[in-house]
Amino acid sequence: MSAFSQLRLDGVSRRFGGQDALTELDLTIEAGEFIALLGPSGCGKSTALNCLAGLLPLTQGSIWQDERRIDTLPPERRDFGMVFQSYALFPHLTVRANIAFGLRMRRLPKEETRRRTEEAVRLVRLEDHVDKLPGQLSGGQQQRVAIARAVVFEPSLVLMDEPLSNLDAKLRLEMRTEIRRLHQSLGLTTVYVTHDQEEALSLADRLVVLREGRVQQIGSPRELHTRPANWHVADFMGYRNLWRGRVEQVDGTRATVESSGHRLLGEVIGDLPARSDVVVAVRPEDVRVDGPGETPNTMSAAIEVVEYQGRELAAEARTDTGQLLHLRTEQRVAPGDQVKLSMDPQRLLVFPADATRETD
Ligand code: ATP
Repeated sequence: MSAFSQLRLDGVSRRFGGQDALTELDLTIEAGEFIALLGPSGCGKSTALNCLAGLLPLTQGSIWQDERRIDTLPPERRDFGMVFQSYALFPHLTVRANIAFGLRMRRLPKEETRRRTEEAVRLVRLEDHVDKLPGQLSGGQQQRVAIARAVVFEPSLVLMDEPLSNLDAKLRLEMRTEIRRLHQSLGLTTVYVTHDQEEALSLADRLVVLREGRVQQIGSPRELHTRPANWHVADFMGYRNLWRGRVEQVDGTRATVESSGHRLLGEVIGDLPARSDVVVAVRPEDVRVDGPGETPNTMSAAIEVVEYQGRELAAEARTDTGQLLHLRTEQRVAPGDQVKLSMDPQRLLVFPADATRETD
């Protein structure tokens, strides 16, 4: 369906009153891809999306659809579908009229408008609600209308800005599946803004992680999950155990690190001079309780807090040198238990430290 084979952002920057909100974003999107823009509040996600939509002029850079430059076009000439967190439906129009709105604006023949609208209604499963007003719908149904309205005119690109954040947890999961299904069945190209790493990982083919307006990493869910480019990305991707340390020895891709009284062996990410300051990162699910015998990264700890999370327990443990460790396990542990914890050196990542932020 896409009217292009590649969409390219070339050094896209946006400043607000001398403050950089987005700095030199380079990104090539292939037709059919699902791209998530991910990062903490204020990192520039919405700015990037609004630049793409044409709602914000660029301070620098350009945007291209194949060989056609589009950043100079007004939003309505870019032909992109948009879905916002706030739904932005017309309150006085019925569901059917809301969905048909874009087609009417484009002056499509009546019969085609009717046909496409009915099809979009079916796609988002709102057949029983077409004559209602938005105010008579639940949040999830309203967001379905917004999505149908954004895809009904077969846009070359669909832009979504935190579309699920006003929904409750259960509905959010359902709608997530629905969005992915629509993306696939309609052959859409989608750019999706979220601060929820789990949502981004489950939806996107590729993720763009932003921090303070700059790209930290672009990669597949798997790449970001297993090989975050720096400790800020690791932090964001759920590596909850981030400890400061100092390199004792580097041997190929492995480093021995001294951190809070523990000697740890891990995988080096980036460039590490000897004796340099590092941040060691481990995901809670990669901490094993009473794992196999004497692996390199074994430590004694006392369980302090336990929280049920489905089949697993999320727990906090205090190591014998006083370091706090987050872990997830299917084993039954309880506060006060003495345990042996271990971490596979392959899953323990060693990053160069930087001076800009303290870890906990
Ligand atoms: P959130 O998830 O909270 O929406 P975000 O990652 O989408 O955050 P942006 O909304 O893109 O972040 O904002 C990036 C930076 O630009 C922030 O520091 C923000 O304060 C600033 N900013 C955004 N829009 C404007 C504006 N219209 N005027 C001035 N500053 C702005």
